Amino acid sequence: MNRVSPSSIAEVVALIGDARNQSESLWFMGSGSTTQPDGRTLVSTEKLKGVVDYRPDDLTVVVRAGTTLAELDDILREYGHTAVLPETAPNRTVGGVIACGVSGYRRHRYGPTRDRVIGATIVTGYGEVVHAGGQLVKNVTGYDVARLVTGSYGALGFIAEVSLKLWPEDLAPRTVSVEDPASIRRQLYQPIAALEIEDGGFVYVSGPQDPALGGSASEGFDWPDPIDESVVVAVNVPARLVGEAVRQVRDVGATRFVAQHGVGVVDVGWNEIEESQIVDFRAWAESAGGSLVIRRHGQLNASLSRFGSAPETLDIQRRLKELFDPDRVCNPGVLPGGV
Ligand SMILES: Cc1cc2nc3c(=O)[nH]c(=O)nc-3n(C[C@H](O)[C@H](O)[C@H](O)COP(=O)(O)OP(=O)(O)OC[C@H]3O[C@@H](n4cnc5c(N)ncnc54)[C@H](O)[C@@H]3O)c2cc1C
Repeated sequence: MNRVSPSSIAEVVALIGDARNQSESLWFMGSGSTTQPDGRTLVSTEKLKGVVDYRPDDLTVVVRAGTTLAELDDILREYGHTAVLPETAPNRTVGGVIACGVSGYRRHRYGPTRDRVIGATIVTGYGEVVHAGGQLVKNVTGYDVARLVTGSYGALGFIAEVSLKLWPEDLAPRTVSVEDPASIRRQLYQPIAALEIEDGGFVYVSGPQDPALGGSASEGFDWPDPIDESVVVAVNVPARLVGEAVRQVRDVGATRFVAQHGVGVVDVGWNEIEESQIVDFRAWAESAGGSLVIRRHGQLNASLSRFGSAPETLDIQRRLKELFDPDRVCNPGVLPGGV
């Protein structure tokens, strides 16, 4: 498989321009944790690393797409800041996380990643450089292209740089083991996270001990190990239905799961599962107003749709693809409905 590693935005512009002229399609790659399709040129961000502009007093940073989460954390730690990106995936890239629109467990308190993307520089399928948003936390002019590309999976263009709003790191963080994270969460004012896994629950807090918590506390954030089974799905349901989703997950014999109470996301992994069970589980999630996205197919038939039923916004997604990448150079087919 042909692989190229541009080291500047100008090189990305040239690559996309050439691919367009030759009617070829490209596949953008961060750390490569997502399976890449065969037969396309991979455009890796491995040489697009580092911070472009860090303004600690404004709590903003502009970072290149190929910077890993660990590298960004190391830089921000000096000022006691965090970009609140996923906690258990240090080798993934900022570009990959933004392209997938993935949030970390601290979303319960700090909101989704999309809310912290205040600017982006992308190269569209025309080979044009677009600077969207900026470094102002309040920026109300024009279309919010930076948020639009968050979760676009690279279908609208190559994400070269992103501008992120930062938070001060939590002081005196603690992990408390509890039996019922769902009810403890409701008794507290905005805990950082309330997670349930196969054999227990955890509430994550900061500051002085709260007597309402009970349980046994340890210092720092002790996050669950990443779900690394052969089949991995992410179930998204309305937050009030997480308890029901957990019952469903237990019924289908998950090897591991992490349910985010108060958020509505349940990540589930199996070493073995029948395809029909995934289909039934997806039907339940969709009937509840949610979705089931297959992150890793494992032994499941590759033709089993990654996203499930087409979303109501499919037509809008098609029109956006047509606007940003009419010749289908950038990750064609990555979105639902083959967009
Ligand atoms: C459909 C889907 C849903 C997922 N859902 C979750 C989830 O809910 N939680 C979770 O933890 N993980 C999820 N993942 C896994 C995801 O791959 C990782 O979370 C991670 O964010 C990827 O980081 P990476 O650096 O390995 O990127 P890669 O795996 O290399 O790339 C991930 C995706 O982003 C695109 N991409 C990468 N860099 C750029 C760039 N600079 N510009 C444009 N596009 C780019 C790639 O083409 C690919 O589509 C999902 C993956 C997919 C494909």
